Amino acid sequence: MHVIIIGGGIAGLGAAYKLRRAADAGHEVSFTLLERDDRLGGKIFTDIAEDADGGRYVADGGSDSFMTDKAAVHRVARLLGVFDRECGTCDETKKTFIVKDGRLVEMPDGMMMFAPTKLVPLATTKLYSWPAKFRMALDLVIPRKVRWAPGETAQDHDETLESLVVRRLGRECLDRLAEPLAAGVNGDEASEMSVAARYPMLLDMEQQHGSLVKGFLAQRKRVEEMRKKHPPQPGARPRTMFSSFDEGLQFICDRMADAADRGCIRTGVSATGVARENSAWSVAISTGETLAADAVIVATEVWAAAELTGDVDPVLAALLRTIPCSSCATALLAFDEADCPFDRKWHGILTPSVEKKPLTGVTLMTSKWPDRAPEGKVLVRGFLGGPRDQEVLEMSDDELLELARTQLVELVGVAPDARPCYAKLFRWERGMPQYTLGHMDRVDEIESLEGELRGFALAGNAYRGVGVPNALESGERAVTKLLGEAGISLDEDSAEQKRAH
Ligand SMILES: Cc1cc2nc3c(=O)[nH]c(=O)nc-3n(C[C@H](O)[C@H](O)[C@H](O)COP(=O)(O)OP(=O)(O)OC[C@H]3O[C@@H](n4cnc5c(N)ncnc54)[C@H](O)[C@@H]3O)c2cc1C
Repeated sequence: MHVIIIGGGIAGLGAAYKLRRAADAGHEVSFTLLERDDRLGGKIFTDIAEDADGGRYVADGGSDSFMTDKAAVHRVARLLGVFDRECGTCDETKKTFIVKDGRLVEMPDGMMMFAPTKLVPLATTKLYSWPAKFRMALDLVIPRKVRWAPGETAQDHDETLESLVVRRLGRECLDRLAEPLAAGVNGDEASEMSVAARYPMLLDMEQQHGSLVKGFLAQRKRVEEMRKKHPPQPGARPRTMFSSFDEGLQFICDRMADAADRGCIRTGVSATGVARENSAWSVAISTGETLAADAVIVATEVWAAAELTGDVDPVLAALLRTIPCSSCATALLAFDEADCPFDRKWHGILTPSVEKKPLTGVTLMTSKWPDRAPEGKVLVRGFLGGPRDQEVLEMSDDELLELARTQLVELVGVAPDARPCYAKLFRWERGMPQYTLGHMDRVDEIESLEGELRGFALAGNAYRGVGVPNALESGERAVTKLLGEAGISLDEDSAEQKRAH
């Protein structure tokens, strides 16, 4: 079976590497991966740049981390023999700030997502007004919206994040924390974001505990008990919530491409159309060739997938088009330490949209990660654009870099005349799919149509999770579908299923 994989982000690479494992296990499978850009990795892009003194910047312009409670990246790193190259965040400097009235206010201790679980930090924080704090406390007594019938799930009671947070915790909690979190972490607008798709556990918590605060308190207790029961082994690497690699996140993409075999990968080549005739598939590409295949995996952004599937199944293409995507840019800037006379023991800043600032978030990369810049330099990353401010992206790269620099002067305290010693702008055009109300119902329909297409699979971040591990797993799942149709089962999948039970 020859498979054409379209898209060389982590989903497409996950598919390629799994097909390689299937071939190595003795199955008659091969693949060609096509990537439109000249590089692999998609939204994972680490720029490694040397300075004049031989020091180097490791600058992640797209995704900079993956969540460690999802196994996919660890599992693949182990298979590749590079697990020891993973590095966790520097948690001794983990603080996050929220912009309020143009100034930085530290996120109160005990906040789990946007819900308070500790009384004193909530009482003393300047992030919320007193009426807002009382309103948040009402979550403990406000009855649940509805009681679900037996067998019903969050998907049957989908709601926007705005609706849920305003209903349970009040408008100020939404404006000051929930909204910037949704925009900063998921690139979503709280007024559109589907809770059932992004955070179904919030709706589950309301059902189970009648309150989000009580739900998070129970979760905190469970985590503390687990930690007591399983304390870290002496000398073991500390467990962090987010991880990356010592050479940046692109490292894992590059190792997957090496292991899959770069001879089967064509970069700088776009797929321009996919067609099926009986059980045979063909893919037209930008060189003018048409490639024949037994199966196709479309692992592109969802809007590109819609364009490619128009001739295969117009209903499927129309459904894919209903998943919107927003654009954003990241400005990576490094300064001399002398130009950064502020406390540098923090990881991030979130800017609520009510603040009307062009910089939606900031990450202090040299504080969050080890060895991201030469000695004596501070590497910062600013986010621009996103669903709430697409117009700002009309500026040129230089204008956006200068805008980010001046915002860092105003917000963080970078010296006004500081000139960056490293500066690079990364644009992510329609790069973030938005999971809007009813998203999971749409994905069910998409998967049902995909299931009917023998020899065809979709992968990527637009369906069941936008995070790096989710995208990687989606590529592997696509391969499992195609192998299953060809009557091939891999030992690793049976072992995985046994573990899941
Ligand atoms: C700025 C930013 C920060 C992020 N931060 C994080 C984070 O810290 N942690 C996290 O877990 N997630 C993060 N994400 C999300 C995560 O990076 C992505 O969801 C994930 O990397 C997407 O992988 P993918 O393979 O599904 O898609 P992509 O990476 O988008 O790959 C799709 C590929 O398909 C190619 N392609 C498109 N059309 C064609 C065609 N016709 N022919 C050939 N190739 C084509 C594209 O060039 C692209 O390389 C972030 C995303 C962005 C944009």
